[in-house]
Amino acid sequence: MENSFICVVCGNAGCRPLFRNLRQSRFSVARCPECGLEFLAPQPDWEEIAKIYSADYYTPWDMKRSENQITARMKRLTFARRLRELRRFVSSGPILDVGTATGFFLDEVIAEGSFVPYGIELSEYAGGIARDKFGAQRIHIGTIETAPFPPGFFSAVAMSDLIEHVCDPAAVLRRVHELLKPGGIAMIMTPDTTSISRRLMGSRWTQFKLEHLFYFSPANLGRMAAGCGFHVLSVQRARKVMTLKYLRDQFQVYRHPVLTPLSRGLGWILKPWEDRPFPITMGEMLVFLQKSAS
Ligand SMILES: [Zn+2]
Repeated sequence: MENSFICVVCGNAGCRPLFRNLRQSRFSVARCPECGLEFLAPQPDWEEIAKIYSADYYTPWDMKRSENQITARMKRLTFARRLRELRRFVSSGPILDVGTATGFFLDEVIAEGSFVPYGIELSEYAGGIARDKFGAQRIHIGTIETAPFPPGFFSAVAMSDLIEHVCDPAAVLRRVHELLKPGGIAMIMTPDTTSISRRLMGSRWTQFKLEHLFYFSPANLGRMAAGCGFHVLSVQRARKVMTLKYLRDQFQVYRHPVLTPLSRGLGWILKPWEDRPFPITMGEMLVFLQKSAS
């Protein structure tokens, strides 16, 4: 059937485009009528993905210039929060951060002192910085599929802003399951299609972008996780620590017809406070999964 797509969570073959020509591209966002999974359709091939991740990709995180102190502090506050959340379920042992970039989460892991930090990063540039900090044997540059860590090694695996980017999220979860100890915890942060911002903004949702291949809800993420040998411990709204300056920079890169000019205007009025950090929900969920006893 033309213009219908298969859902990777439930196998429904009748998924239809919901929003067409996402960001003036040839891609649509399709929605599964059975489980509500939303995804980029058709899925881009490797060449297109490489184009999406051109050098400009890291601009909003200030990685082209040297990382400025405010951005660094903002990320550390966010990751310290997340580590506190994780410690509700697991309190020590080796921890793997998948998509660690330059290792901001692992910096927090070191500072907190309970876990032994390991990371995986696809970008040689960012991963090289992480290697300088944590050692080459602790940081794998490549994918989780090719990472040389032994099965059953980790107490916890963290994936922030990752699962929505990968071509085969279930395969990643199965690999996470393999790397975890029995009873080990996976912490996933990803956009939530049941969030208020998604409902209010529709096709203009800031999370709808070409590098996000899949958009989950708590229910369909839980369903996929169950199929990979996990049970869901907790789902909550994810909070990030932000500054107004950072938000304004994001909206310059990911343009929105209302929020971009609004953030520019507000940014000017609120200039004296632009570097002050505050917690904010951005339509994302924080999900804790446990590797089930088999
Ligand atoms: Zn489905």
